[in-house]
Amino acid sequence: MITFRGGIHPPEFKELAEEKSIEIMPAPEKVVIPLSQHTGAPAKPVVAAGDEVKAGTLIAEAAGFISASVHSSISGKVKAIESWPHPALPLPVKSVVIESDGEDKFDDSVKPRSEAQVEKLKPEKIKNMMSAAGIVGLGGAAFPTAVKVSPPPDASIDRLIINGAECEPFLTADDRLMREKPEGIIMGAKILARVLGLEKVIIAIEHNKPEAIRVMTETASRVWSEAEVVTVKTKYPQGAEKQLISALLGREVPKGGLPFMVGVVVQNTGTAYAVYEAISKRKPLYERVVTVTGPGITEPRNLLVRIGTLCSDIVSFCGGLKPDVSKFISGGPMMGIAQSTLDVPVIKGTSGLLFLTGKRNIFRTAPEVNCLRCGKCVGICPMRLVPCENARMAEYGKLEKAEDWGILDCIECGSCAFVCPSGRRLVQWIKYGKDLIFAERSRKKEKK
Ligand code: SF4
Ligand code: SF4
Repeated sequence: MITFRGGIHPPEFKELAEEKSIEIMPAPEKVVIPLSQHTGAPAKPVVAAGDEVKAGTLIAEAAGFISASVHSSISGKVKAIESWPHPALPLPVKSVVIESDGEDKFDDSVKPRSEAQVEKLKPEKIKNMMSAAGIVGLGGAAFPTAVKVSPPPDASIDRLIINGAECEPFLTADDRLMREKPEGIIMGAKILARVLGLEKVIIAIEHNKPEAIRVMTETASRVWSEAEVVTVKTKYPQGAEKQLISALLGREVPKGGLPFMVGVVVQNTGTAYAVYEAISKRKPLYERVVTVTGPGITEPRNLLVRIGTLCSDIVSFCGGLKPDVSKFISGGPMMGIAQSTLDVPVIKGTSGLLFLTGKRNIFRTAPEVNCLRCGKCVGICPMRLVPCENARMAEYGKLEKAEDWGILDCIECGSCAFVCPSGRRLVQWIKYGKDLIFAERSRKKEKK
């Protein structure tokens, strides 16, 4: 079966939520919507305390080319714009706090477009619409989608891949979306293909999602037969862009490079659906599907959640935490970020909320011991790095050498730490080394 070189197969634990249909979580009484929830510059607020908003009202506009607009997700009144804990950033971030008026009013001044109307839209116009709707990649990195489908003029794009791999253990949001909203995903893929001047797309799904493969294949044959559903092997990190491109097309993105350099654009299934909603239904991105799962939550679920909903409200909606919960992660267990509070909001890039106990914690928690030189981390690294050496260099501050050894190419997948028999915190040291290198680079830039 199609796959890439290296990688691992951690326990999947998808059974906790994979058969749970997407439920709509009612709008909460309060949302906290960060101005920074995407790659690039934070959005600039266009509302102030006291302003009234509806779901879908623009509350902050993109501040530059790489940025994204932000919209209210409920109707009510802006209470404040203040710093608030963020699930993906170390320090509190300016956020728009909105209190609900309990009426859940939507901006209904716009009407949906027919398929024929969508067909007539020019690519530039579609990009502007995606930008105005605040569409970003929903797979995690939250890169503005309009920018991602605007490769440099000399890049020759011949493939669009819709990524339905969802290789992180526990997470099932994309799986459910493919099973329940296949037409929207395929229509979104068609719109993205048009923007890129392409006639067809590949939709990649891991083979542990047979129902999603069946539904998407059947829907593609009915809705748009140029969408080809391809099954890829269930292996982590199959959903990483470079690994997916390697598996499907046999193309290797150069070190330090991006997919457009090998003629490819990759978009997540959730993003394709958000594009469909933005262009066909004229709906800004103010809600998304989130998997709430793990042995530490009473009722694991897949929920359609308003952006800015506090995780504490989601926990209450899912029956509360189990008494032995020991860890809360925003995202999956491999690449997600451990949280210190439930008072963080769901943002556009939140694919899951994971609550672990001592059981089913897929990482070793024993103290780390010396490297055995067993080479396991080297054998599985999907980026062909030498994790044991990169981690050691970062630990001892040998940053120039670490750069020479490709530390910046690490995609932080965590596979090396997963296999290490010595419990070495390999990815943690590597992340630390990368942060130091980036900090040094920005210090030098500011000095100039
Ligand atoms: S070094 Fe980076 S890319 Fe390689 S296995 Fe470790 S975390 Fe993944
Ligand atoms: S897997 Fe762990 S023990 Fe083995 S070489 Fe890598 S760091 Fe050393």
